[in-house]
Amino acid sequence: MRIRVYYNQKWLRSSWLPEFLRCEAVVLYPFILFCEPKDRIAKTTVRHEIIHVRQAQEIGPLRFDLLYNFHILKGLIRYWSWERAYRENPYEKEAYRKQKWITLTAEEKKVVGWE
Ligand SMILES: [Zn+2]
Repeated sequence: MRIRVYYNQKWLRSSWLPEFLRCEAVVLYPFILFCEPKDRIAKTTVRHEIIHVRQAQEIGPLRFDLLYNFHILKGLIRYWSWERAYRENPYEKEAYRKQKWITLTAEEKKVVGWE
């Protein structure tokens, strides 16, 4: 499925969901919604979200959403902390571990506008 990236713009407010969730961006496969306009998004953040897209592609978007939220729920029960539940989520751990060095494919560069 073709990935679609939405940076926040005056005429297209993509930030509603990330703002609601209090984060910089959200992957709702096949969409990536950013809280800020393109020129204000760090490349590390873009790579981080691409890693989530790859995770969703690897195990299937529905399974990814279910497992991602399962780990958040498990973390909330275990730590009673949203921040800790987020940080301990294995999908987040992988994304934070790889976000500085992964190389985007030509297709990924195109969809995020790094041509
Ligand atoms: Zn993440």
